[in-house]
Amino acid sequence: MSRLCLALCLLHVALCIPAGADQYPRQPGIDVERYVFRLELAEGTREIRGEADIYLVFKADGVSEVFLDLIAAKAGAAGGMVVSSVADAGGSVGYVHEGDRLRVKLGTPGNRGSRRRLTVSYAGVAADGLLIGPNKHGDLVFFGDNFPNRARQWLPVLDHPSDKAAVEVAITAPEAYQVVAPGLLVENTNLPGNRRLTRYRESVPITTYCMVIGVGRFAMEAIGQVGGAPVQSWVYPQERDAGFRDFRIALRPMELFSWRVGPYPYEKLANVQSKTRWGGMENASVIFYREGVVTGKGTNEGLFAHEIAHQWFGDSVTESDWDHTWLSEGFATYFTHVYQEYTAGRDAMARGLRRDRENVIAYFAKNPASAIVTPATVSLDNILSTNSYQKGGWFLHMLRRLVGDEAFWRGVSTYYARYRDGNALTDDFRRVMEEASNQPLEAFFRQWVYAPGQPTLSGTWTWAGGVLTVNIRQVQAGDTTYDTALDIGIVAAPGQAPSVQAVRLDRREQSFSFPLDKEPSGVVLDPNVWLLMQAGEFTRK
Ligand SMILES: [Zn+2]
Repeated sequence: MSRLCLALCLLHVALCIPAGADQYPRQPGIDVERYVFRLELAEGTREIRGEADIYLVFKADGVSEVFLDLIAAKAGAAGGMVVSSVADAGGSVGYVHEGDRLRVKLGTPGNRGSRRRLTVSYAGVAADGLLIGPNKHGDLVFFGDNFPNRARQWLPVLDHPSDKAAVEVAITAPEAYQVVAPGLLVENTNLPGNRRLTRYRESVPITTYCMVIGVGRFAMEAIGQVGGAPVQSWVYPQERDAGFRDFRIALRPMELFSWRVGPYPYEKLANVQSKTRWGGMENASVIFYREGVVTGKGTNEGLFAHEIAHQWFGDSVTESDWDHTWLSEGFATYFTHVYQEYTAGRDAMARGLRRDRENVIAYFAKNPASAIVTPATVSLDNILSTNSYQKGGWFLHMLRRLVGDEAFWRGVSTYYARYRDGNALTDDFRRVMEEASNQPLEAFFRQWVYAPGQPTLSGTWTWAGGVLTVNIRQVQAGDTTYDTALDIGIVAAPGQAPSVQAVRLDRREQSFSFPLDKEPSGVVLDPNVWLLMQAGEFTRK
């Protein structure tokens, strides 16, 4: 992956194409609006034959070339694609396929606002990105597994989340196989030679990493609808009963998030047992789960909640630069906790948050310079870090505490409504939350999102003469002094729930006094799990 990054950086310099913080060379002169992929799959070969229509709109005048990402076949390489022709509006045009980029010379330059269709014909073996092989039952299956930048292994695309597009796939495969893909099923035709043509159309723009297919023997069950979108379970037929039972859980997170955030963004949701390399992969409207997801005991509810939350955050509202991956993973992590909160209660949520907090602290100990957003060090190797997931989730939790439930949920809904089917960056989210809460949040975002670390709190408490005095010290290494709310929990008697006094920390050492008639049995910091803090020594003096 680092070698690829180097190649892209060099290309970026050579072509003077502006790049984002993640160094992907942007093409501001074009926007892909829709892809149509026609693919032929067969038994007994790993070769695929493909034709891709790329419908684009020009965003500038005089655009004479277009670059697409597509891994090229090379001597000694395990796979790669060979392009046989490229057409511009039906007429053959020149192209160069080098460095895993397909440089297309347009027949005539494109001007702002005009549209064009390019057609790329190609064939080859995908070394990655399209997994072809036996599943756990020995049946041949084909699964796209594109995240983060592996669509280019088998599809000619502008392979970056900032360019989302509608997509249609037309798969010709052996007749015995079913096909699942993003969007609605629009054709299912038996062809001569025991083959079958299946077409799906996704009319909502999605990222290329979500443009996948699943082809094989499946058992499919329609389990209901949420907001008019059919919800389906696709499992291996050998695991039909257990799989159908497990996958019915999908309706609950869909209903919760539709209510909390806004309408489900796609025309359907298929939950699919698959060979994805991830635990689950949130492909828009067609989530792929790992093969072992079926247990028959409903043990993967959190995984379903996580991937389903991604349909809103990551899939529908997508980070436009990879270093803002927390806008996808942090949200999915937090919404899994929210799902717990609603279905199992606040204590269950707090258990998950405590576990995440331990992970964040441990990760920070090993990566003391790494923040949730660290543009200088972004690479595709480290976007899926504890910072993107657990610290991103914790940030949302603390933001909710800061602005209050009502403003938080109003802001999250507005953020979704405003950036639905599009892209956003952290500042876009901040601005929406500032509007919703009517308070400036720049310092809060700077402290938690753009700076590494968290406070370590130590201190003492005393009770004398009807007054409880709590002394708190911020003892974390470095110069940072945190400005944050802290709950002090006062336990009247052993076993009782603490009563809470909220204070504001903004200095290295502070004392707080509370009138208290009776001597408390204990004092605890952050009893309700609202602060990302490392616990130092806190004792009675
Ligand atoms: Zn995720």
